[in-house]
Amino acid sequence: MSGLEKVGSSREGMPKGSQSLGAPPLLRLPPRQSPFAKRAARFRRLAESHASLAGYLALMADLVEVQHDLWERFLQTPLPDSHIIRRPLDNQQVPAWREALRLIAERLGAGSEPVAALCERIRQATDEELESWATCLLSANFQGIDPGLAPFVAAALQVSWSSFAARLDQDRVRTIECGYRCPICGSWLVASMLQTGGSVHGLRYVCCSLCSTEWNRPRIHCIHCGSSKDVSYFGLEGAGEAVKAEACAGCKTYVKLMNREKEPFVDPFADDLATLGLDILMVEEGYQRLGFNLLLIPGS
Ligand SMILES: [Zn+2]
Ligand SMILES: [Zn+2]
Repeated sequence: MSGLEKVGSSREGMPKGSQSLGAPPLLRLPPRQSPFAKRAARFRRLAESHASLAGYLALMADLVEVQHDLWERFLQTPLPDSHIIRRPLDNQQVPAWREALRLIAERLGAGSEPVAALCERIRQATDEELESWATCLLSANFQGIDPGLAPFVAAALQVSWSSFAARLDQDRVRTIECGYRCPICGSWLVASMLQTGGSVHGLRYVCCSLCSTEWNRPRIHCIHCGSSKDVSYFGLEGAGEAVKAEACAGCKTYVKLMNREKEPFVDPFADDLATLGLDILMVEEGYQRLGFNLLLIPGS
């Protein structure tokens, strides 16, 4: 496995983000066009270039392709009450997400043996079982759900919640503190991205693990404790510049920082799963990851 490489820190003076004209948007709600098409293509490309993870990344590509295929249908499902999305833990799930899960199981059920068995389990499950899996996932109670089922349940919830977020009127969303939990749905972050283009060029946005909303946070700044004093950057030796771990020596947490200037197609979910070696090394260094990728729950 590649080693860990320290590639910069706030003490040495990291390059600042470019100053954009006008105030950048605090929130970036997901687009009406499916957010899943590019992600599926990215998973497919990473499966080709990461031989040791090829089968796993190809399965994720298949799963995200189903999310994409379900997108238009879910833009038609009713929004939660009053068009106000509350945090998922306070909110009854809209039943349509269960339909998404059953459609995912139908589409992927003809796959290889372990996947077929998981899909069969989903098809046989009652509504109550499906709801209990969703509750465990959304409340980060990972002992309550089979880790094999988690990516499928997560994918269905992502389609449902992203379709809500994409239909919100940005001007009517009152903001709301933006920390490491999503200001729209309350879920944990998955990673953060240095964006390119237009008013967001060079700015850092944090990505929600559930509803595809992004929110702005300063660069070179710990998303957990807010300190800029002792922030360092680590990468995997020889793995390129696109994915780094931004680590805070104060609170010993890290988040992944993905750089679209270095790799325009980098994706917070796909590139996260393709760089799990970086997580292993960061944990060995004594850092704890802030947030998680719903497609691979901690401990899986
Ligand atoms: Zn969210
Ligand atoms: Zn910190």
